Amino acid sequence: MSEDLSIHDFDYSLICEYFALLERQGPGSPAQTLRALSFIEGLDADSRIADIGCGTGGQTRVLAGQAPGSITALDLFPDFIHRFNDKARQAGLDDRVRGIVGSMEALPFADEELDLIWSEGAIYNVGFERGLREWRRFLKPGGYLAVSEACWFTESRPEEIERFWVEAYPEIDTLANKVQQVQRSGYLPVATFILPAQCWTEHFYTPQVAAQDAFLRLHPDNAAAADLVREQRHEADLYRRYGQYYGYAFFIAQKC
Ligand code: SAH
Repeated sequence: MSEDLSIHDFDYSLICEYFALLERQGPGSPAQTLRALSFIEGLDADSRIADIGCGTGGQTRVLAGQAPGSITALDLFPDFIHRFNDKARQAGLDDRVRGIVGSMEALPFADEELDLIWSEGAIYNVGFERGLREWRRFLKPGGYLAVSEACWFTESRPEEIERFWVEAYPEIDTLANKVQQVQRSGYLPVATFILPAQCWTEHFYTPQVAAQDAFLRLHPDNAAAADLVREQRHEADLYRRYGQYYGYAFFIAQKC
């Protein structure tokens, strides 16, 4: 194993450990998960739902509390899936909610198997348009997709935030362009709404403050851990200063 790879693996397990300390691994909230679900019709006890890039499953448990049917939740990181399945068991949901390790680039579903594909703050890992196109075949005709994705709220923005996002995720775009991509990828754009700012502050960055202290205590004198915390604090600071220019939006779409 090359030295680079072992350093990379070490960082990777630190990143998992850090984010596993949190209820969610991306911006969102129970209220907004339920709001997105309110646009979806026709689910019943036989419905098959997938939650892609589920993390430790904060949003999956909310979804399972309201939506009938069974949920297969998938994430690349085994540590997240272990926690996911522990929490599903504790919540008494394990008869119809199951976490599996896998990649969103090679989903283990059959064509037209699913009634609903859910994915909060995760489709960017494969890219919004590519994910929409590749995941479509797993949906039954008339099946739904609900994904949240980073968007620009304005036509132009200060250079500092533009530079940050273009480096982090060059596919970030305006809501109007994203809706057009939904349509072009073979879906009816049923609803789009912007996640309120509390999804970033109260539900994402604020819980990280205590998690950061705990994490740094667990890893004193560890440069990679200190870097990770510094980066997360930088992101929170950017959101505080530039949150009016970008955010997450939910896209609810129906396969046509
Ligand atoms: N949906 C959760 C987690 C969002 S963070 C929430 O809203 O809280 C993005 C998640 O995508 C992480 O859990 C990460 O492990 C997962 N991920 C990244 N690349 C992936 C891939 N190729 N396949 C599956 N999951 C992936």
